[in-house]
Parts: sequence; C-alpha cells; structure tokens
Amino acid sequence: MSGSPEAEKVVAIDGPSGSGKSTIARGVAEALGFEMLDTGAMYRAVAYGVLLSGVDPEDAAAVTTVAENAAIAVQHGVTTLAGADISVEIRGPAVTQLVSQIAAIPEVRQALVARQRAWVDQHGGGVVEGRDIGSVVFPDARVKVYLTASEEERARRRQQDEAAASRAISVEDVQSAMAQRDAADSSRAVSPLQTADGATIVDTTGRTPQSIVTEIVDRYRAAEGAS
Ligand code: C5P
Repeated sequence: MSGSPEAEKVVAIDGPSGSGKSTIARGVAEALGFEMLDTGAMYRAVAYGVLLSGVDPEDAAAVTTVAENAAIAVQHGVTTLAGADISVEIRGPAVTQLVSQIAAIPEVRQALVARQRAWVDQHGGGVVEGRDIGSVVFPDARVKVYLTASEEERARRRQQDEAAASRAISVEDVQSAMAQRDAADSSRAVSPLQTADGATIVDTTGRTPQSIVTEIVDRYRAAEGAS
C-alpha cells in the first residue's frame, strides 16, 4: 500500500521513452541491493494479452478484464504471461503502437497500480520505474527522480535498442513514433506523464549512466539518514 513503511523504501524513476529509465533503475537497484520493477513492461504485457486474445482494444471493459486476470510477472528483465516468456514480443511494433491506448484506460491503471503496490509490499521496497510512479503509485517514495534527455538522444537510444533486437528502423521513424507515444502519455486524463511533486529532474543527455546512478544512490542514502 502507498503510505506503508515499504513505500518509503522506494526509488521512483519516471520519464519519457528513451530517457534512460531502465538502465538507471537497474544500476540503482544493484547499488542499493534492491529489486527493480519495470512497470512499462506490465502495460506492454496487457497490450500483448489483448492482441493475443483478439479482444477489441476499443472495448475498455474487455481490456480491463485482461488486465485484471492476466498472470503477468516481471522479474530480472524477463516478462512472462501465463508462464510464457514474452520479453521479446512486448518490445515489438504491434505492442509499442497499442500500449499507450491501453494505458489510458483508468480501470487498467487501477488493476496494475494495485499489483505494483503489492509487489513493493512483498519486496519491502524497490526501484520502480514508469510514468506515474512518483506522482500516483508511490507519492511517499523516499527518492523521486524524473529523467529527461534531448529528443535526438532519446531517439538515438531507442533506435539502438531496436537495432540490438534486429529490428531495422530509422532514427527519424523512431523519433516520430516516440513523439506520438509521449504526446499520448502526457495528455491522457488519468495519471499523465508529469514531474511528480518533490521529484528531482535529471537530464541524462551526454552523461554516463554511472554518474547518474551515483547521484541517485547518494540522494537515497542522504534521505535515509535524515528519516
Ligand atoms: O516504459 P515503456 O516505454 O516500456 O512503457 C510503455 C508504455 O506503458 C508507455 O508509453 C505508457 O503508455 C505506459 N506506461 C504507463 N505508466 C507507467 C509505465 C508505462 O502508462 N507507469
């Protein structure tokens, strides 16, 4: 539950796609000896479940049923749905194109937020990354960070991810798809992507992941000492 003692042992990392959330979250979790939760993978898993089951994405009630009932697990970079490894599929173009629409459904968010809070309760804290972690899911997180980077750098990073997964797509195409998804995530009525109250904005452009990880870990240690 948000407001529980565990919620305070949370590092909340939010930001748009390509801002470096996953890399930084992984580094911070390792340094603090915490587990990390990629909440984007959970929304992607629901989108994949919708595609797999043939549910109409426009049918909010049916999509919500998928979100409420799907057996989704996200752990150590591996995402499973009903026990099947879907880590590769959830990064594919079909899911990437659909996910923001799914994530805008309030009942879908409610179902996943409940799971995210249960995950933190179970793990006694953690590094949680997404779009609404510091603003909605864990407003009492010990440290809240909002990562940014220039549009060019974000697109370049995402394109490298795509190339690493053997998907050929130009930086320009990545940039325009990313801009569309960011606009949808920032303008939705419920839990839009925004800088949470009390969050530190960190521009990752041109910085090494290690320097950012160190900054966040230092911030966490200082907050821990002060509490
Ligand atoms: O982080 P990633 O790019 O994998 O997230 C995929 C999508 O999931 C985002 O574009 C957004 O629509 C949604 N999302 C969300 N809230 C979160 C995490 C992700 O709405 N906490």
